[in-house]
Amino acid sequence: MHVTFYGAIREVTGSMHLLESGKDSILMDCGLFQGRRKESDAKNRIFPVDPSHVTNMILSHAHIDHSGRIPLLIKGGFNGRVFTTRTTADACSYLLRDSAHIQESDALYLNYKTVRGHLYNLANGKKNDLTNREQSEITKLLKHNGLRLNKEAISKLLTQYNLNSVEPLYTMTDAEAALSAFDGYPYNTPITVGKGMTLTFFEAGHILGSALCLLSFREKGRRFNVIFTGDIGRFGRPILRNPTLSFPENIGPIDLMIMESTYGARHHEPAEELKDRLAEVINATYNKGGVVVIPAFAFGRTQDVVYIIHELRNEGRIPKLPVFVDSPLAGNLTRVFAEHPEVYDKATHKTFLEKGLNPFEFKGLNYISTVAESMECMKTTTPHIIISSSGMCEAGRILHHLRYRVHNPNNTIVIVGYMAQHTLGRRIMEAGWEYKKQGRTGKAPIVKILGKEYPLKADVVKIGGFSAHADREEMYTFLRKSNLHIKNIAVVHGEEEQSLAFADFLKEKGFKAFVPKKGQTITID
Ligand SMILES: [Zn+2]
Repeated sequence: MHVTFYGAIREVTGSMHLLESGKDSILMDCGLFQGRRKESDAKNRIFPVDPSHVTNMILSHAHIDHSGRIPLLIKGGFNGRVFTTRTTADACSYLLRDSAHIQESDALYLNYKTVRGHLYNLANGKKNDLTNREQSEITKLLKHNGLRLNKEAISKLLTQYNLNSVEPLYTMTDAEAALSAFDGYPYNTPITVGKGMTLTFFEAGHILGSALCLLSFREKGRRFNVIFTGDIGRFGRPILRNPTLSFPENIGPIDLMIMESTYGARHHEPAEELKDRLAEVINATYNKGGVVVIPAFAFGRTQDVVYIIHELRNEGRIPKLPVFVDSPLAGNLTRVFAEHPEVYDKATHKTFLEKGLNPFEFKGLNYISTVAESMECMKTTTPHIIISSSGMCEAGRILHHLRYRVHNPNNTIVIVGYMAQHTLGRRIMEAGWEYKKQGRTGKAPIVKILGKEYPLKADVVKIGGFSAHADREEMYTFLRKSNLHIKNIAVVHGEEEQSLAFADFLKEKGFKAFVPKKGQTITID
């Protein structure tokens, strides 16, 4: 048996590994690289395996850094099926379409910039040398009503002037073709995925539908077991069940566990405190007459926040102020949550379902879909809570809410998710923190939103307990308390220092562990 590690190796995005045994080549995850645009685009455009060589694929969960390159797999000639949990299949039907839409709009925007630059050159040289009239003529040519990019006109001009055009990584048609290859299965049920090879999904507790994937097969007269963890969640988080600890007794030793290490060297704030902290922030902002703005990922984090606010309201710990979820994608994905109560934990059943309540619906909660409703919400001056995406404030409607709210010291921006380097979310978090350290006196820091500068006077509060990834101790708890006998651990899905530190930690605890190099193949026989 060979395993090759292709992505999320000494980094966190682009998850992809290949298992080969006999005639079976099973791809585990097919995720998008994310980060700095140019760098990740270049990485995403090179597909490291021949897709027609892959016999089947298994997908650990719906996050785009695990699923986002599946359309490229299909486009490249993959003929097998994508095996995943039912919930992940449903969530991907929204997430992959959304990803295709982003790819198409990014390419269109870059092509627009190429054509615009060329037209400026033809007219007079640089933008600033042009009269307002010349500029508006060009805008009229390239945008519908001066707003929406005119795709047809842009592509016609690219051809006419023989300019280099950017092709989207994949299109909506590619995403839809990929979705037709998906098959959703329940947890704890062996499924045949190759010759004498079965796959079983176990609860990973990371996001709705996330799975630990066990591949079991015979080779050279003996049984092999490989577990791919995908991302591992935490114990005691709302809505989701805990990561599985009790596996079927008869599975035998695990020859290889491919394990994530996002927080391999870190320790999280306890999850129990996040509810108290959120209540505190909501009450303080309400008393000042302000607005609570929460940037959140559309899948997972948005529903976590809605769920906790619902609980706090029911317990009478916060006032019954209006709550808005402004992200059409989040609205659709919340429906996926509501359609899969079979995967909720006991507490969710007890608090909500047994009383006939939907955890994601309550009086005063509004899912915004149209732009007009969104605009209306931005202009509302009475206290309310707004949850919007994108999670790292890089795009989407959250930018407009921030634009309307950052300058007012009565408002609070609550950071509930990971903010990567070089994102607006990270800038707000760090600048807000600095300003607070100075006692919120003197000149407020400046943040740039949609090309304009704003003083960041709103309070910025970070609540860390929301993380969907286990920290070092929780991952150790998973290993220690499970009934698995693990022979070797490949540490993946972490920045290099996190992965190396986690592998060292595991070795100290008596496990055999290593951090593979990108493209490295290991053989187990
Ligand atoms: Zn994930």
